[in-house]
Amino acid sequence: AKSAGGNRFELADEEADARAITRHGLTTALPAALDRGEFFIEYQPLVHLGDGSVRGAEALVRWLHPQHGVLGPDRFIPLAEHTGLIVPLGRWVLEQSVRQAREWRERYDDAGPLRINVNLSPCQLTHPGLVQDTVDILERAGVEPDALCLEVTESALIGADDDLLKPLRRLAEMGVDIALDDFGTGYSNLANLRRLPVSILKLDRSFTQSMQQFPADPVDLKIVEGIVSLAHSLDLAVTVEGVETGAQAEQLRILGCDTAQGWYYARPGPPERLHELALVDATG
Ligand code: C2E
Ligand code: CA
Ligand code: CA
Ligand code: CA
Repeated sequence: AKSAGGNRFELADEEADARAITRHGLTTALPAALDRGEFFIEYQPLVHLGDGSVRGAEALVRWLHPQHGVLGPDRFIPLAEHTGLIVPLGRWVLEQSVRQAREWRERYDDAGPLRINVNLSPCQLTHPGLVQDTVDILERAGVEPDALCLEVTESALIGADDDLLKPLRRLAEMGVDIALDDFGTGYSNLANLRRLPVSILKLDRSFTQSMQQFPADPVDLKIVEGIVSLAHSLDLAVTVEGVETGAQAEQLRILGCDTAQGWYYARPGPPERLHELALVDATG
C-alpha cells in the first residue's frame, strides 16, 4: 500500500512530467508555428508624462497556439532562445513592428511621429546578421531609423565587451535608439552606463510598484530621483513601465521621468487601439 507521502510525491512527479511534456511540445512546435503564422503582436502605448500624448508603442509578441490558446512571451521566448528560433522569430517581430510604425506614421503625421519599441534577446545581439537585417527591414518598409527603438535588458549587457557592443553602436550611429530595459534590477555599475550606446533607460516595474503605497517608500523615491538625475545628466531619457494608477503616474512625473507605459494608459492590444488613442490625442 502506498503512503500518503508517496502519493504526494507521485502527484508532484506527474505535474513535473506534464510541464516537461508541454515544454517539449512547445519547443518542437515552435518552428512550424512561425511558418503557419501563429504568432501575433500586441502594442502597448508609450505616453509622454508631461502632456499625456502617445509617443509610440512597445511591440509584445504572443503565440496563438492551436491547443493551448494565447501564450505570453514568458512561456515561449526562453524556449525560442534555447533552440535558436529566436533569431528568425525576432526578425519577424521587427519586420511586422516596423511596418506597423510606417502605417501609424502615414496616418498620423500631424499627431507627431509615432515610434516603435522592439525587444531584442541576447541571442539576437550576438547574431552576426543583426545590423544588416535591421537596415534591410527599415529600408524595405521605408522607415527612418529614428522611428525605431531596440530594447535590450540591463542583464544582457552586464560585463559586455566591445564585440557585443559594436553592433549596438552601429545601430545607434544610424539613429536607432537603444533602451536599457528592466533597468535597476540590481546588477550594473552606474558608471558603466557611459560606455553603453544607450539613449533611454527603462526603469523596471518594481520601482513603479513601490510608488503604489502612499506615502511611497522614501528610500525608493530617493533611488528613482537619483537614477533620473543621473540619466538626465548623461542625456538619457527615462521611461517607466508598469504604471497601473494615476497616483503612480503623478509621482513618477514629479520625479522627472519622461515617458510611461502601463495598464493605467492601456493594456497591450491590437494596432487599431493605438490608432484610437493617438487620434483622441491629436484632436482632443
Ligand atoms: P518587458 O519587455 O519588460 O515588457 C513589459 C511587460 O510588462 C509585458 O509583459 C507587458 O504586458 C507587461 N505590462 C505592461 N504594463 C503593465 C502594467 O501596468 N502592470 C503589469 N503588471 N504588467 C504590465 P509581456 O507582454 O508578458 O512580456 C513579457 C516579456 O517578454 C517582456 O518583458 C519581454 O522581455 C519579453 N518579450 C515580449 N515580446 C518580445 C519579443 O518580441 N522579443 C523578445 N526577445 N522578448 C519579448
Ligand atoms: Ca521591453
Ligand atoms: Ca521591461
Ligand atoms: Ca520585464
